[in-house]
Amino acid sequence: MLARSNPLTRPPLNSKKGIKQRAEAIRKATTVRKDADARCLVFPCNHPPLDATEHGIGRLCRVHRDHYRRHGHPTRSSLTAAQLTPYRRAAFEWINAQLASKANVSEFFVVNALRRIEGRLEASGQVVEASDIRAMSPDDKARAVWARIKRREVDARVLLAIALGVEAALAEDPDPPKWLGPLKFREYAFVQMAKVLNQIGGGIVKRWKRTSAPDKVQELRGFQVSMGRVLRHLGAALSEDAELVTADHLKDVLAMKHAIEDRVTAKGEKWKNNFLSRPYPLRFAVKRDVSGSGRAAIVSVFEDEPPRHPNRLREPKSVDVKETPQGAKLEIHRY
Ligand SMILES: [Zn+2]
Repeated sequence: MLARSNPLTRPPLNSKKGIKQRAEAIRKATTVRKDADARCLVFPCNHPPLDATEHGIGRLCRVHRDHYRRHGHPTRSSLTAAQLTPYRRAAFEWINAQLASKANVSEFFVVNALRRIEGRLEASGQVVEASDIRAMSPDDKARAVWARIKRREVDARVLLAIALGVEAALAEDPDPPKWLGPLKFREYAFVQMAKVLNQIGGGIVKRWKRTSAPDKVQELRGFQVSMGRVLRHLGAALSEDAELVTADHLKDVLAMKHAIEDRVTAKGEKWKNNFLSRPYPLRFAVKRDVSGSGRAAIVSVFEDEPPRHPNRLREPKSVDVKETPQGAKLEIHRY
């Protein structure tokens, strides 16, 4: 009988113990359990649970199992950008406020969390592209995502703001998702954090022409799929790094969020969920070009001199410098 193990501490798949466990899991998955439930655990789903089929293990049906893998909960969907961005923005501004006020006690915890995140980025090693990770363990895939984040030179404050933002969004949720998975109630939060991390890490798009077919462009897209155990590893790591801050300061972040909302509504404006409201140091704010061909553009805000090339993986097709009515200078790289 295979003990139900914590997915974050399972032995690696290529170890002797891992191979044995994997073989046992396959044997179990392809066997129909006699004591399986008649229906999926999610009420009122009528599909048979995977235990009652030859295609998997568990008390969920295939549909709900797949949803659980992707979103961290069998029925609840992921937080949308519109839901999460105000909290991430508030967390980012709160972090900056703490760092600015040196006398503040919580500044110590913020600096500690930032150092831990920076250490994790430093230790992530060489970048492995998402097109090459197929045989890697979830732990190594998570490390590859950290390496991609490091390659894009994302500020640790942005990453800490993800953890704080997700925790704050769930703290304000009147009916927070609960699911007694192997990670006990924390899995949804981990997965939500990881989905943002994965997105920030990005991927690669390579285009080239073959001499045998010069008019046809070959394309390779390497982006990490946002599902599976890799998300649990990523989210658990970030949550651990941020725990000293999230334990005590969610109230402050929520207060900051309401202060920002008041500030916006006092001006008679509406909160805009656009790229400028997202908590990037804006060198890496990525914007969809809605007017043109739908290609992405990178909009960078600068003060004195233009930033360095924002995406070292691709050559921009055009670079424009514009000034907004508020006087901010923007540099727009189109791809
Ligand atoms: Zn179901």
